[in-house]
Amino acid sequence: MTNETRKKTRESKRIVIKVGTSTIMYPNGAINLQQMEKLSFVLSDLLNQGKEIILVSSGAIGVGLSRMNLTKRPATIPEQQAIASIGQTELMSLYSKFFYHYGHQIGQVLLTKDVTDFPVSRRNTVNTFEQLLVKNVIPIVNENDTVSVEELDHLTRFGDNDTLSAIVLELTEADLLIMLSDIDGFYDKNPMKHDDAKRFDVVSEVTEDILALAQDATSKFGTGGMITKLNAAQIVLEADKRMVLANGSDLTILFRILNGEAEGTLFSKE
Ligand code: ADP
Repeated sequence: MTNETRKKTRESKRIVIKVGTSTIMYPNGAINLQQMEKLSFVLSDLLNQGKEIILVSSGAIGVGLSRMNLTKRPATIPEQQAIASIGQTELMSLYSKFFYHYGHQIGQVLLTKDVTDFPVSRRNTVNTFEQLLVKNVIPIVNENDTVSVEELDHLTRFGDNDTLSAIVLELTEADLLIMLSDIDGFYDKNPMKHDDAKRFDVVSEVTEDILALAQDATSKFGTGGMITKLNAAQIVLEADKRMVLANGSDLTILFRILNGEAEGTLFSKE
């Protein structure tokens, strides 16, 4: 049953891939160029295989801090937004160079939460995604930090990129969301704290009991955490689609996941 479920992942055609800041930045705050290059290589190859790829990338603030030679986030929201604005351009400039090297074009899509609430803006967003995908371009998505304060407000877990990537899956009617994190999957307890934690291979429903296993919900990078990943899984399952939570430290894992191998945790109803 598990093997069959995993094998179905091979059939995924349209795929949303979400990378967290920890995947593309070093712990010392510098940009991990090796990882960014590898990500561009793997995604370009998937495109060459005939897949449709949408990338949701965090890291604007991290890259902005690095470019401005700052070691920690500024205190005020306007300052953080300015850093995000600087970092977003730099991030896209790097992706553009790396993807170009592998023969592919990118397009930037910045979204805010209200986009899904208003039919006209929703339709425009869907149309933009469709046109980019039809043209074989990789949309690279992030929250529009300039106008969406919630994303930067650490007190609320609202508008994080985990939820955003699930919403992008809904908007684009993608088959699969691959969420890359610093952890090998979803465990029965926090594996960073418990040596005996066991990884789930497949989760078919995000129940209250499952949610209770996501301890230490807040990520060290500010937003996100395991709870927002489970919330994203819930949105994905409700849409009858699939999500894989896996470790982004070796990005060739994407090839194995799409080959139906038992990497990370698969969230799937069947
Ligand atoms: P990212 O920055 O890559 O988005 P986060 O730091 O937000 O990742 O979330 C992943 C972290 O969630 C893990 O490093 C781990 O410490 C924590 N965590 C808490 N509970 C669990 C669990 N049950 N299974 C896996 N990870 C968990």
